[in-house]
Amino acid sequence: MQFKNIIGHQQVKTHLINTVKENRVSHAQLFLGPQGSGNLALAVAYAQYINCENKLENDSCGQCSSCNKYQKLIHPDLHFSYPFFASKETPVASSYLEQWRKCFIANPYLSLDHWREHLDGGNKQANINIAEAHDIIKKLSLKAFEADYKVLILWLPEYLDIQGNALLKLIEEPPEKTLFLLVSENQDRILNTIISRTQLVKIGKLPHNEVLTFLTEQKGIPAPRATEIAFIADGNVQAALNLIEHDENPFFNLLIGWLRFIVTDSGLNIIQFCDADFPKLGRENQKNFLLYAINMFRQIILMQQGLEQLVLLQGEEQEFVRKFSENYTLAQLREATNLLEQTHYKVERNANPKILFLDVSLQLVLIFKYQTFPQGTQYIK
Ligand SMILES: [Zn+2]
Repeated sequence: MQFKNIIGHQQVKTHLINTVKENRVSHAQLFLGPQGSGNLALAVAYAQYINCENKLENDSCGQCSSCNKYQKLIHPDLHFSYPFFASKETPVASSYLEQWRKCFIANPYLSLDHWREHLDGGNKQANINIAEAHDIIKKLSLKAFEADYKVLILWLPEYLDIQGNALLKLIEEPPEKTLFLLVSENQDRILNTIISRTQLVKIGKLPHNEVLTFLTEQKGIPAPRATEIAFIADGNVQAALNLIEHDENPFFNLLIGWLRFIVTDSGLNIIQFCDADFPKLGRENQKNFLLYAINMFRQIILMQQGLEQLVLLQGEEQEFVRKFSENYTLAQLREATNLLEQTHYKVERNANPKILFLDVSLQLVLIFKYQTFPQGTQYIK
């Protein structure tokens, strides 16, 4: 992974390169950035740069023997740790090394949900267990085979739980020429003892225009569709990639159907929706659907407030937004948006989708059907 292949983050790249040029590479660093921001990709590119035998001014060469092995993630002094499903056959993370290499090379912006799908472990909870913590210690106690620096990249230390304490001594006093790069999405969920022993590399959310350029130039998506995807993905490249997989927006019809049952208080249809249609989406797409719904409601609010020029939609989506905005009050729309935001948060926290969506649907019925709105008729009949 070279820096040039990672979207945006110029300042972070320059900072990382300078730490090498100025010979002040800290042995334990925490790459903290939101999901789909490229934090993992940056850590890999940094490690590759450090070990490149022929460094360029602003990047690794991409051609030397070290770079070659790094690009395939097969360098003997590059180690990974990540959440996985432990079993008798798969006691440590490296049991899944082949899947890991394939998954990262195909998509360096991967989310945990995406990775879990590669692991095919059903609904089991992926974790980094104590056996894995010991395996990390063992790997790093070995002498480097051929590189200057032995590197361990630990993806999502939030899943270490209390096992992380086994690693503290290693993080504090690592063997010589050893680099410990932790890549996290959520600082609140990492052990404080780990945070206090690492140097922070803060990575921001990608701006819309960076994601838009990626979609049009690297993925060949036509500009109108790319604008829409970048807007829904909101800086998360993994979310954008999920949306590309569908030729057209699959969520529009789902949203219309759902809202139709809600505003007509059609109980049986709502139950059917929550029992079958939503669970079928899988968790990753449930979240994407909710993001889509939240964004649509924000557009409806803009339209209702007379800010039509800020509404970024076209065609039937725009038509829907216009009609919906004419029939509900600002208070109703705001309440619905808040509710959807809370729901998105709960899906992320692994709530049971059937119960969750049924509960949300009924609350939306209360918001839309049974609150009076003087200006008249409902849009969806
Ligand atoms: Zn190189």
